[in-house]
Order: sequence, then C-alpha cells, then structure tokens
Amino acid sequence: MGVAALLACGRQRQEAGGVPGRAVFDTLYLLPATDADTATMDYLQRHLADSFRVPVRLLPMQPLPAFAWYAPRRRYWADSLLKWMKPMAHMNACRWLLVTSSDISTTRKDHFNWGIMGLAYQPGRVAAISDYRLQEHRRPPDAVRAALLKIALHELGHTVGNAHCTQPHCLMQDADGRDKTGQLSGFCNTCRKRLFRP
Ligand SMILES: [Zn+2]
Ligand SMILES: [Zn+2]
Repeated sequence: MGVAALLACGRQRQEAGGVPGRAVFDTLYLLPATDADTATMDYLQRHLADSFRVPVRLLPMQPLPAFAWYAPRRRYWADSLLKWMKPMAHMNACRWLLVTSSDISTTRKDHFNWGIMGLAYQPGRVAAISDYRLQEHRRPPDAVRAALLKIALHELGHTVGNAHCTQPHCLMQDADGRDKTGQLSGFCNTCRKRLFRP
C-alpha cells in the first residue's frame, strides 16, 4: 500500500496544485478499522470530498493494533493509533483519517485515560475518529454520521495547524469532554484560511 499511496499522492499534487477553494492537502485517505460501518465510511467519503474538494480514497479495512489496547478500560489509546499510522502517512501533501467504532482515549489534564471522539497531530498527516461516544445517546444512524463528519472536519483542521478556537459556532471548538457537534455549523474565517487554498 505504501508505494501505491505515494504514487497516487504525487500525481494528485500535480493535478490539484493551487486550485482555489480546495483544501491545502491534495488527497485524503480514509482508513476504516475492521469495526467501522460500511455505510458510515461511504457517507464520510462523499461528504469529506464535498467539503474539501479533493479526492477522498477509501483504503482496505485494517484491524486496530494490539499494542494500542488499554485493557482496564477496554479502549484504544488514540496516541498509539496515530503512531501506528505514521509509517503509512509518508507524504506531506496528503492526510490519513482512521475511522473506528471502538472507544478511544488519551491522557488529558489530570485524567490518565480520558475517552475521546477524535485525536490528530497539530500539525501532522494523521488523525483518528470514533463514533463510539456518539452512539451512546441512542441517536439514529443518520444523526450519528452527521456528528461524526463534524468530528472528522475538526480533527483534519488540526492536521493543518489549527488550534482550538473560541468562535461560537466554529468546528475547531474544544469538545471538552462533551458532544457539542449540534452547535457547530462550519469553520470561522481564521480556521478556514488555514484549511483551504485562497
Ligand atoms: Zn480538537
Ligand atoms: Zn475557528
């Protein structure tokens, strides 16, 4: 997969170079974990392509690595998942987004193992999202997918260097342990500028 991804990325960069209104990255690769829902992947692929106006390619499903498993809480360390993805994300101009339905976590402030919906390098090439916490509210699948899309946009916003934002409806707001996606409508101008070509 490494070589194929490299070639696809290089080719795309030439085609997409400098097109106004497109994302600053050239191709987005979606990596479904084996527990990811096929309809959700299809939804993300279509809507992320609409949002970023770059090719969004679906990679073959992969099992999550055992070394990232945190047995006491039955969660995966999101930090370990990002590290695991790093070798496959070798081109600056592309981004890789892991999608899982398993619970994922990180260390945050005084919480050693804190359940989260997404994590990304800021800046970097890889991000991971999970709909596990969005499912807890017994929402219909369409509503879960729409919320997960906002998590994906948020995490990919981090990969281009955006920090958390205090603008009321900006997608880069800190979730702070809650699902705030219902209040978020899009990127504010400042966050948008980092994500899209002028
Ligand atoms: Zn964030
Ligand atoms: Zn913002």
